[in-house]
Amino acid sequence: MRVIVSGIPGVGKSTVIDMVVKKSEYKVLNFGTLMFEMGRDLSLIENRDEIRKLAIPEQIDLQKKAAVKLGQMDNIIIDTHMSIKSPKGYLPGLPQWVLNELNISSYFLIESSPEEILKHRLNDPSRSRDEDKADDIKEQQEINRYYAIAYSVYSGATVNFIYNPDNHPEIAAENIIRRL
Ligand code: AMP
Ligand code: MG
Repeated sequence: MRVIVSGIPGVGKSTVIDMVVKKSEYKVLNFGTLMFEMGRDLSLIENRDEIRKLAIPEQIDLQKKAAVKLGQMDNIIIDTHMSIKSPKGYLPGLPQWVLNELNISSYFLIESSPEEILKHRLNDPSRSRDEDKADDIKEQQEINRYYAIAYSVYSGATVNFIYNPDNHPEIAAENIIRRL
């Protein structure tokens, strides 16, 4: 089986996924890492935060290549995004050509309060984050729910909204493990 776990930057996605991987048969693969490595090999980018600023056809090309690789693996959690905010508008993380390669069983959206997310972002200076306000974060989480629902209708896979409570990522992890 292949499942998607998504969540906006700062939601605590990596922490939750690490816990799920330790307590399950699943391995995690990061979609952005595959895209980054392929883009870097083509000399298109030097870091992962440049991917979303590439021309859309270039992003789609890397996206397709990453999807083909992942579609050949089993028992994996794919760490990715429902949508990517690019300078040209929202790019779907799982358009039809990606979903057709991946054959996903379930989508998990890790969510938290905008205040918590902002707090985490301030503590992680390693990434070049966009400067969002609480209202932007609320809107992005809402938009990601719409995208997830659209993917679910297209693919027939289930959707799960997983709340990551302040200081208790193990609760979010348990909720995912129970549904795998
Ligand atoms: P991440 O570290 O998970 O935020 O991923 C790094 C970057 O990879 C993101 O900012 C996006 O530009 C890109 N990326 C990740 N997943 C996808 C996807 N499914 N479709 C298109 N781009 C993606
Ligand atoms: Mg992370």
